[in-house]
Amino acid sequence: MLYPQTFGNNPLFPQACDFAVVPKDNNSGFGVITHRHFKAGDLLAVVSGEIVPDIRQHTLQVSSNEHMYDPYFTGYLLHSCEPNVSLDMKKKTLRALTDIPAGTYLYMDYAETEDTLFKQFGCCCGSASCRGWITGRKETSPHVVMEQHDVARTH
Ligand SMILES: [Zn+2]
Repeated sequence: MLYPQTFGNNPLFPQACDFAVVPKDNNSGFGVITHRHFKAGDLLAVVSGEIVPDIRQHTLQVSSNEHMYDPYFTGYLLHSCEPNVSLDMKKKTLRALTDIPAGTYLYMDYAETEDTLFKQFGCCCGSASCRGWITGRKETSPHVVMEQHDVARTH
């Protein structure tokens, strides 16, 4: 199991035989790869973590004032604008959105769970629907802010 024993013994928690947290590249840091093939819709794992009141690195938002701190698994999921997994923070489940071959990095869309990101960033996921600059779902892109500023200045 990737989680410490204190999290309990749920057999659906991510297992070390199924997943590994591995270095990706200099830009992305670590990511999670799967050692197993999953089909679209499959449950990959039930996730867990300490509930904390603030956003940190490796937290996932549960509600407006609850964040799950998981520095063992979920906190290392990479971002893509065309993700292959989806995280349900109410049910604490991670599901496959597409078929995922063994040896593949897992990608979620950070805006799926986060109102505000720990840190906004430029995305180079390369998907056709790439948003370019990644923010939380309730944040405004700085480009939009600048455009509104320009409009305000010319009036
Ligand atoms: Zn992208």
